[in-house]
Amino acid sequence: MKRQKSFEKDNAKLYLVATPIGNLEDITFRAINTLKQVDIIYCEDTRTSKKLLDFYDIHTKLKSVHLYNENDISMEIVNLVKSGSNVAIISDAGMPVISDPGWVVTKDALENDVDIIVVPGASACLTALVASGITAHPFYFAGFLNSKSAKRRQELKDMYSRSETIIFYESPHRIEETLKMLVDIYPDRRVVLARELTKKFEEFLRGTPGELLEAVSSIKGEMVIILEGNSNPLSNVVLELNDLSIEEHYNHYIDNGIDSKEAMKMVANDRHISKKQVYEKIKK
Ligand code: SAM
Repeated sequence: MKRQKSFEKDNAKLYLVATPIGNLEDITFRAINTLKQVDIIYCEDTRTSKKLLDFYDIHTKLKSVHLYNENDISMEIVNLVKSGSNVAIISDAGMPVISDPGWVVTKDALENDVDIIVVPGASACLTALVASGITAHPFYFAGFLNSKSAKRRQELKDMYSRSETIIFYESPHRIEETLKMLVDIYPDRRVVLARELTKKFEEFLRGTPGELLEAVSSIKGEMVIILEGNSNPLSNVVLELNDLSIEEHYNHYIDNGIDSKEAMKMVANDRHISKKQVYEKIKK
């Protein structure tokens, strides 16, 4: 076990500082003071962070760290702090570490007895959750889902039985396809798309996946999806049955002693299709 009580010591530290997710005023006094006082700030895109620093008249030196090079640069940052420099890590927006760089450096810092100080602030996932109207706890944060369609569909299926409210980040290029997947897998769940949070074009779409799909053609901007959790554990079985063909699904009920008429009705209900569509398939 290691105990960190950093405020009792005035040694150099690693600061993880939250920055705004859109509205530049969403930053704390402490974040501004920290960014002014540290010796160096590691950020993602120096041009993005420079705009924030200029807005608050902060002149601290900026250096870039990205998720792809965090492994290479991490020990450089840790050694800087060990040699007496106070270092801050910020990302382009929101909390570092949350779908952004910062975790590898944090882990390496802790392994090397460097103290971590978090200066908290805005994060898109919590901002969206709070405004969603869907229960806030428990929740499950998935970050970004896979960019490959088949893997993303599988990830969405894997989350089906979760009773927690599900939060994930999505890109405007993929949102239509992802909503189509939600229509297939979660047709009746409540879903909220929170877009451009804290910015001029902030918008919330609240409804079923099908209703959102109708509204999202050519939707732009940064977005978070909040998906209602599973309140019916039995529905997991339905999801698995829906992976079968209609005939196999129907036969599953027949094999379990359910009469033909009822089995057709159950298959139609499970798959959100008409009894006629079931009948057409099984009469062949
Ligand atoms: N570290 C950030 C945080 O704490 O929220 C998240 C960084 S992640 C690389 C960027 C993603 O966060 C965007 O693609 C979008 O899904 C979400 N995001 C960031 N800012 C947002 C905003 N103003 N409105 C909606 N979503 C936002």
